[in-house]
Amino acid sequence: MAQTGKLAAWMGKGKTFEIREYPVPDPKPGAVVIKIALANVCGSDMHYWKGELDMEKRGRTMPINPGHEHMGTVFKLGAGVTTDSSGQPLREGDRVIYRYFIPCGRCKACLRRQFKSCPTRQSNWSVTCDVWPHFQGGYGDYFYLGPNHAIFKLPAAITDAMAAGINCAFAQVYAGLEFAGFKGGQTVAIQGAGGLGIYTCAVAREFGASKIIMIDGIDERLELARAFGADEIVDMRQYRTPAERIARVKALTDDWGADHVLELVGNPHVVDEGLRMVAPEGAYIDIGNINAGWETTIDPSWLVFGNRRFLGVMHYEAEHLKGALDLMVRTRQRYPYEKIISHTFPLEKINEAFRQQEDGHITRGAIAPA
Ligand SMILES: [Zn+2]
Ligand SMILES: [Zn+2]
Repeated sequence: MAQTGKLAAWMGKGKTFEIREYPVPDPKPGAVVIKIALANVCGSDMHYWKGELDMEKRGRTMPINPGHEHMGTVFKLGAGVTTDSSGQPLREGDRVIYRYFIPCGRCKACLRRQFKSCPTRQSNWSVTCDVWPHFQGGYGDYFYLGPNHAIFKLPAAITDAMAAGINCAFAQVYAGLEFAGFKGGQTVAIQGAGGLGIYTCAVAREFGASKIIMIDGIDERLELARAFGADEIVDMRQYRTPAERIARVKALTDDWGADHVLELVGNPHVVDEGLRMVAPEGAYIDIGNINAGWETTIDPSWLVFGNRRFLGVMHYEAEHLKGALDLMVRTRQRYPYEKIISHTFPLEKINEAFRQQEDGHITRGAIAPA
């Protein structure tokens, strides 16, 4: 009988996860089957779990196997895969991180090497887990990493807990600052001290930021932001209104505004406030707003008069994943990367993990299959 593994199948909007068992797929040429070690609960996972992203409406057949922020070991290599994406020999049992989306290599975006904008880069995710290769996400024992992937071997110094957040949160904010043209000496303000916000502090620090301002209102999160390099805290319990917070960020930046403001809250209501914190010629980097159909009102003249930019950022190129990993290796003594995951749950407790993260006091929960 074929070997089987468990996965968490998400049953659809307003429903929960169910644990299911499927045969472990054999990798086709160019693919890799990963044995998952750890999969985080990212903000975007929370959005669909709460029904804020209607996947069925987007043509997805339930149930699906979600989870995208994860890492593990090579379980089986498909024919032709002998190295990782930087040319290092790759063998079964090696600990790895990998890009969780896969550009097709043959479309208008890929032609221009804009792989992060490939329209079908997440097409594996539109397939129900009832269909081969079943293991399409991180919440389960295995993950099927298709051909054209990006994969990198992990050095022993990077633990599983440190590595789990690299392929989404860490690489995402690393890429976001780079896409915005961040330069050493500039100032950064961050809306939201969740996993992405915390990582942004370290990345901005290492990129040479002259001042990093974190805006949040939960003690554990603010403490972590400080440990990751935030210079100033705008505590939302003290600065209660958008006007007060905008004034505070201005006061902290020589009455000028921050050169880069990152939206990492995931709610359009914070956008106008964040935009008003942006310095002339600066950029608003929106990463968190992935709720299609949620709207807000902004005054475009604020962008025009100040030569400000509004930048939407989703996904990254393979080089950013490698860059983020290298940065973590280099700075592993400087920042408490292990602390980003605050709670770990077994796969069977996945519904509880999501419930607890919803209350906002868990910085990032993680699911560890047995
Ligand atoms: Zn994510
Ligand atoms: Zn493509």
